[in-house]
Amino acid sequence: MKLYNSLTKRVDTFKENESGKIAMYTCGPTVYHFAHIGNLRSYLMEDVLEKLLRYSGYDVKRVMNITDVGHLSSDADTGEDKMLKGAKREHKTIMEIAKFYTDAFFNDCKDLNIKTPDVVEPATNCIDEFIHMIEVLLEKGYAYQAGENVYFDTSKLKEYYVFGNQSEDELMVGVRDDVTEDSNKKNKNDFVLWFTKSKFEDQALKWDSPWGVGYPGWHIECSCISIKHLGEYMDIHCGGVDNMFPHHTNEIAQSEAFLGHKWCNFWFHVHHLNDETGKMSKSKGEFLTVSLLKEKGYDPLAYRFFALQSHYRKPLTFSYEGLDQAALTYKKLKNKIAAIDVAGDIDAAKVTEYHDKFAEAVGNDVNTAMGITMIYDVLKDDELNGATKLAVLNDFDKVLGLNLTVKEEMETSSEDAELVAYVEAKIEERKNAKKAKDFQLADAIRNELADKGIIIEDTREGVKWHRA
Ligand code: AMP
Ligand code: ZN
Repeated sequence: MKLYNSLTKRVDTFKENESGKIAMYTCGPTVYHFAHIGNLRSYLMEDVLEKLLRYSGYDVKRVMNITDVGHLSSDADTGEDKMLKGAKREHKTIMEIAKFYTDAFFNDCKDLNIKTPDVVEPATNCIDEFIHMIEVLLEKGYAYQAGENVYFDTSKLKEYYVFGNQSEDELMVGVRDDVTEDSNKKNKNDFVLWFTKSKFEDQALKWDSPWGVGYPGWHIECSCISIKHLGEYMDIHCGGVDNMFPHHTNEIAQSEAFLGHKWCNFWFHVHHLNDETGKMSKSKGEFLTVSLLKEKGYDPLAYRFFALQSHYRKPLTFSYEGLDQAALTYKKLKNKIAAIDVAGDIDAAKVTEYHDKFAEAVGNDVNTAMGITMIYDVLKDDELNGATKLAVLNDFDKVLGLNLTVKEEMETSSEDAELVAYVEAKIEERKNAKKAKDFQLADAIRNELADKGIIIEDTREGVKWHRA
């Protein structure tokens, strides 16, 4: 399998630490609001990566945190605590907000066929681990106390900019103009490991620590939670591109300083989903959620299909026209699959042949668009009988997660009456075309119906039809 690695900045042949086993970590959501479909693009592509690894025979353990404390609105150490902001907005406690939006996140994931990681751990469960790591960093001389906070000292590292491509401008990402620099920091990029109550007087979540009552910085949670569940060596760490700096850079700094060796080999970053005005953001007022798409009548899997049509390393622009197009293509594809005549025995050798081809094609840096193209190759392959086609598509769907062979539920009866009238008129039209020996038109009518999920069969008792 080949995978682009943000550390080496090229597509590398994937190599795991322990043969056949993969330790995989995903930065989880900050649960102060709904996830927007941009956030979910990242989780969706990470889900495909996990499923692809399993499909290729690896034994994967995947861990994800839930950020319910410490994430300030700037991504750096300035601005308001995001959870506090959510709690104020809704006049609820932070824990109520965290529970509500964690549940909402997993509901969205379920709608999008995103598997829940093997381990999900909220940051607030691991305060003792955070304190321990900070104590070790202080002991080793990588951290210092100033103004009642504890900071990581980036000048103690041989290399801080591990991803190597940040310009000064990018380094300022998220740092708002109206926030003054923290004068306690010895170096510009030093970051907070532990805040004390001096940061926010009304901080609701706080814990006792050797440095005073306070709460952890944002980055420490991912280092601690991953090491707790995956051990000292990690194979793949995932997130959206905006996580590269400062979050992932700081995770690497503190984890490697703590462990004393290299921590994670592969860094997988999903590029952003943008709307027509720019990067999607939760602070933009009304933003795009899965529930909103559902209210507008979209099948959430049409969004999954939309996302899988593009490569995860390219920014993707969302528009309703684009989604409509994807929804239509997806529906037609499902109808074609539903129209397959499931005759014959499954040809196991063919299923394996396609499995290997798919693993190789999609395994070339998670080429999901190629995976979709291969569905059409299977549908067109005359050497495959219906049963084998379905078996191959079910196999592909282990990675794509598009419910390719799941049939739609029957619609309501008033719509049925309209449908019956329409289908019968089409059958009559087709009969007339056949009588006139216009077989091309007759076939076109059959295909038109198939596109709408209606299958017609010529039997000795006349033309019969059913839903696919
Ligand atoms: P957050 O809930 O803000 O911590 O973000 C959750 C995940 O979504 C992180 O991995 C982010 O990098 C990612 N993310 C944020 N915005 C976007 C976007 N517009 N498109 C894709 N991923 C995003
Ligand atoms: Zn993280």
